[in-house]
Amino acid sequence: MVNILIIEDEKKIARILQLELEHEGYETDAAFNGINGLEKFKTGRWDLILLDVMLPELSGLEVLRRIRIINANIPIILLTARNSVHDKVSGLDLGANDYITKPFEIEELLARIRACLRTSQSKLIQNDTLKILDITVNEKTREVKRDDNLIELTPKEFDVLVFFIENKGIALNRDQILTKVWGFEYFGDTNIVDVYVRHLRKKLSIADSLQTIRGVGYRLKE
Ligand code: CA
Repeated sequence: MVNILIIEDEKKIARILQLELEHEGYETDAAFNGINGLEKFKTGRWDLILLDVMLPELSGLEVLRRIRIINANIPIILLTARNSVHDKVSGLDLGANDYITKPFEIEELLARIRACLRTSQSKLIQNDTLKILDITVNEKTREVKRDDNLIELTPKEFDVLVFFIENKGIALNRDQILTKVWGFEYFGDTNIVDVYVRHLRKKLSIADSLQTIRGVGYRLKE
């Protein structure tokens, strides 16, 4: 299921977007100002964000800047006003993947969403295979290879590795990793994450790439 977050203060537009996107089979949620949008971004799992530039509380460009600090990869499409060349240029400079000018045809927006999702998925996944460094991970067979050598991982080690690869370049904290891999019901010691990271570093020889980020957690760097 593809989850799309819509950050748009004009409730009527947000509602129409939700209806159209849900009709296409996407899951959606909407936020009506910048602060709330950023909050929803941080607390949910999203595949793409539609972000209005003219927002109350926190401008769309500021929301974009703050999202990019946390997440370098999630596709973001800006909704900009006509004739606002400055917003488009600043938006692309700040890391937006695309923009669409209001008023727009829904068909055009849908096409851009599909294109953005295609690009972001093909960057990571080819034939159910994730690749990073010289490691390949097959999500179907759950096989992990480094330089064509099969590496034995436990099921949880596998899940932790996949989560790091999906978020490569991004610092993940222990709670995020616990929630994703062990689920919300896990109330044990967050140090368990450190144990798994240590095993992954050793088994895959990725001590240099799987970095400790002091005060945050860990990051897998290409
Ligand atoms: Ca607006």
